[in-house]
Amino acid sequence: MKKNMKKKTKKLKPSPPKTSPLNLSLYSLGCTKNLVDSEILLGDLLASGHFVLSHPNDAHILIVNTCGFIQNAKEESLHTLRQAAKLKKQGPCHTLIAIGCLAQRQPKELQQLVPEIDYVLPLQHYQQLPAILENVAAKRIPVRTKQSVYPEIARFRLTPRHYAYLRISEGCNHTCSFCVIPKIRGKHRSKPIEYLLQEAQELVHDGAKELNLIADDSTYYGTDLYGKPSLPTLLEQLNSLPNLHWIRIFYAYPNTVNDELIQAISSLERVVPYLDMPIQHISDPVLKAMKRGTSQRIRDTIQKLKNRIPQLALRTTVIVGFPGETEQHFQELLRFIQETQFQHLGIFAYSPEKGAPSQHYPNQIPEEVRQERCQILAEVQKNIVQKINSKKIGQTLTAMIDDQPSPGLYTARSPENGPEIDNLIYFRSPLPHQIGDFIHLKITNLVDDYDMEAQPILEKSLRSAL
Ligand code: SF4
Repeated sequence: MKKNMKKKTKKLKPSPPKTSPLNLSLYSLGCTKNLVDSEILLGDLLASGHFVLSHPNDAHILIVNTCGFIQNAKEESLHTLRQAAKLKKQGPCHTLIAIGCLAQRQPKELQQLVPEIDYVLPLQHYQQLPAILENVAAKRIPVRTKQSVYPEIARFRLTPRHYAYLRISEGCNHTCSFCVIPKIRGKHRSKPIEYLLQEAQELVHDGAKELNLIADDSTYYGTDLYGKPSLPTLLEQLNSLPNLHWIRIFYAYPNTVNDELIQAISSLERVVPYLDMPIQHISDPVLKAMKRGTSQRIRDTIQKLKNRIPQLALRTTVIVGFPGETEQHFQELLRFIQETQFQHLGIFAYSPEKGAPSQHYPNQIPEEVRQERCQILAEVQKNIVQKINSKKIGQTLTAMIDDQPSPGLYTARSPENGPEIDNLIYFRSPLPHQIGDFIHLKITNLVDDYDMEAQPILEKSLRSAL
């Protein structure tokens, strides 16, 4: 994901930098957690008196927030760094900085592959960047310090105003054999509830009507601070924030989705009936090799969720072609996906990651088989979504207006669709709607495999009513 800066500067009262202000531009790649890091960093840099440019060509400093999660993401990060290196040779840019997961994992390799990089900054050193910019002439790579959490306020938002991501914790205590996140981001550290309320209030004050809660493992939230999983308590407190309309949970770990959380999702009116809960697989031998619990546990959790919240939109993620995945295991996964009818499904072909135990597992699956299984599953999911969406034709729903791609044409999302990754509803209206307004829509048609078309049935903003 590459975000373009939409505005040249943010209306902050910056403190003047000790040196002349610098023009900066940032490429944000990878997941929403990286996006939040980018927003915090840009907020800090603006507050230090520097300028953020929408176009990298004129920037003195180019920052690439890299992603190192899977092979494709690494390649995209390297490609972006090389593009930035080209600009450094041609334009006013004199300093290229790599930050983010890949910078954390492979700092030396990055500098070897892209020698134009001046600084490689690990995650926990973001706060030092304004200070580093004061002294851009001194080339150095900072050393590790103890990881900590802090309130992530005064962010330079890269998302549209009407929704934002709220990162509730950092790191992960699980040991999934394919994943290097615990090595990159460290052990789980929850942010205290009071920090999160402060951040949420700031985001809402800045126009966010929807907060998307993210973490590496959101259902572990609070266990380290309060002695028990405390996501339900956090949800309760967020639920009472004025002017916040939708709260959405991402990255739930199936084994720790408990009754209290299900009760919170079903009873708190601002928590949307949506849950992102990556399962990764369903076949026991594969789950065991992944170190991710049992099939029965996942099945029980899903059953409970469906019984207690019938309207719940479930999103999950699966990995196909994990080492040792036989045709039989894959067929079991296919059957499960067909039975469960997830509203949203992310499908990844397994990619062996340097530093992850599964990299050395025997019975690695050939790349073409992994890709083929990916395509088969994608085809199955396409049919499921079409079936789910077809049933919605003729129904009315309340949606949040997300964008206006062209005059008179809008896109919107219902509560069962998360921003940027899920399905959209297109509608036409001659009225000048505001992005972020709520509107009643009647679904009329399917646009393609995933998106739908609708007619507005109330040509009036519902903002005040909601
Ligand atoms: S729970 Fe998620 S972040 Fe944690 S180790 Fe497993 S895959 Fe990685």
